[in-house]
Amino acid sequence: MPALIVGNWKMNGLGEDIAEIAHMAGSGARSVWIAPPFTLIDRAVIVSAGAVKIGGQDCHANAKGAHTGCVSALMLADLGAGFVIVGHSERRRDNGESDADVRAKATAGRAAELEVILCIGETRAQRNAGQTEAVLTAQLAGSLPDDAEGLIIAYEPVWAIGTGLTPTLDDVKAAHAHIRGQIVARFGPNGHGVRILYGGSVTPANAADLLRVADVGGVLVGGASLTAESLLAIASSAP
Ligand code: PEP
Repeated sequence: MPALIVGNWKMNGLGEDIAEIAHMAGSGARSVWIAPPFTLIDRAVIVSAGAVKIGGQDCHANAKGAHTGCVSALMLADLGAGFVIVGHSERRRDNGESDADVRAKATAGRAAELEVILCIGETRAQRNAGQTEAVLTAQLAGSLPDDAEGLIIAYEPVWAIGTGLTPTLDDVKAAHAHIRGQIVARFGPNGHGVRILYGGSVTPANAADLLRVADVGGVLVGGASLTAESLLAIASSAP
C-alpha cells in the first residue's frame, strides 16, 4: 500500500493557487490528496481531473438545513470531493467541537460516501502529564463511527501542529501502535485495514524518517502542502 500524502490547506488559497493543485495532478505522483478551502473545491476537482483526490476540511453533521455558513458532507460529495477531514484540533479549539460532534461528522461523511480522515492527538500538557495514550483512547471511544470502512485516522499531536516540533520516531511508533490496538479492539479484524496517518510539522526534511516508522501509512501535512514543490518532495520521499 503506497503511503498516502494528504495536504490540508486550512484557510489558505485563492484562485491563483489552483495552479499548485494542477501541478500536483500533472506530476504523476501517486496517492496525493488535497483539502483546499471550501471556496476552491469546485475548481480543484476540475483541474485535478481525478489525479489528486480533493476533499473538505470539515463538514456539518446534517445533510441540509438551517445552519448558516455550514457545508454538509453531501454538498462536498456533490462537488466531486472524495474525502473529508473531521476533528482537526483547530476545529476542536476554535469551534469547541467535542468527540460526539466529531463522531456525528464522521458518520455524516460516510453516509455521503466520502472517505473520512478523523484527527486525534494530545496537547503538550497531556503528553507531559503522561496522558497521551489515555487521551487517544478517549478520543477514539468518543468519535469513531460505527464501522471501519472508508475510515482513516490521523494522529496529530496538537503541540506538533504548525510549531516545527515533532515527536521522536519512537513516540510516533508507540502512538500508532496504541491507536491500532484500540481500532482492532473496536472493529475486530477490519481494524487492521484502517490506515493511520501522522500529522504535525511534516516537511520534506523529516518525511522520509516519519514514513518509515511502523504503521505510519502516510502523512497529513499543513504548511508544507501549500506548494506543489514542497508536497511533491514529501511524496517522493515515501519509501
Ligand atoms: C495540520 O494542520 O494537520 C498540520 C499537520 O499542520 P502542519 O503540517 O503545518 O503542522
